[in-house]
Amino acid sequence: MLHFLKPEAYAPWLAPYAYAIVILGFTFFLFRVFENWFAAHFDKPLFRHYFVFKKLSNSQLTILKNEFAFYGKLSEKHKKQFQHRVAQFISEKKFVGRSDLIITEQMKVLIAAVGCMLSFGRKNYSYSLIDFILIYPAEFFSTVNKNYHKGEFNPREKALVLSWKDFEQGFAISNDNLNVGIHEFMHAMQLEAKRSRDLDSIRFTKQFQNILKQLTRQEVKDQLDKTEYFRTYAFTNQYEFMAVLAEYFFESPEDFKHIFPKIYSYTKKLLNFNFANY
Ligand SMILES: [Zn+2]
Repeated sequence: MLHFLKPEAYAPWLAPYAYAIVILGFTFFLFRVFENWFAAHFDKPLFRHYFVFKKLSNSQLTILKNEFAFYGKLSEKHKKQFQHRVAQFISEKKFVGRSDLIITEQMKVLIAAVGCMLSFGRKNYSYSLIDFILIYPAEFFSTVNKNYHKGEFNPREKALVLSWKDFEQGFAISNDNLNVGIHEFMHAMQLEAKRSRDLDSIRFTKQFQNILKQLTRQEVKDQLDKTEYFRTYAFTNQYEFMAVLAEYFFESPEDFKHIFPKIYSYTKKLLNFNFANY
């Protein structure tokens, strides 16, 4: 009986499918290897997008156009990508109002837009360490260090916490080097870089090391003392340094480039930021 079954069990008709699956899998693997090699070698992702299909509602798009200057500076292609990313962000994250604050469409769009601006040069833009955006009307009392805060990133709760008043000020005044939104999103991005091995995280770590190396150079130290360009809070620890650096990068790129050209160029590489004249 058994030998009759043998040819059936072998099922030769399956072979082409099996080969196809193996070849497909191998091609995909090779592509991934190449993609990682490219990112490491050229300090940028091979490409940032596969598909761009998500659209914002008309009212959301109006907010982006009227209240978020960065969007207006983008090319048509980048506008589509940006819109897709903002829509994706809004659908993935849960926005929660605190102290009786009612979440508005404007809050969602603008907070998502700041996060997407900071990560716009990356392939991975989704902030995997953030699930919740908690919004207080103004400064809030933080249980983490028993103090009043304008913003906070809480990885244990996977929450980005913001004072709406300070968030609005942060980007309404676009050249005072204070931007709590950018600051807190950078904390989330940096911690993700520490924990993950995706190509953007690897690029982040590499450029961050370059920045730290700069800080050990005597002429850079002298320049930091002489110019007092970065506010002293930056020197609290390496996380605060990077978060403050990001604020300066977006708010006063010309000064930053002029005073610390190397640190500026590593920050630009770290973010892969080649948009809107940065
Ligand atoms: Zn901070």
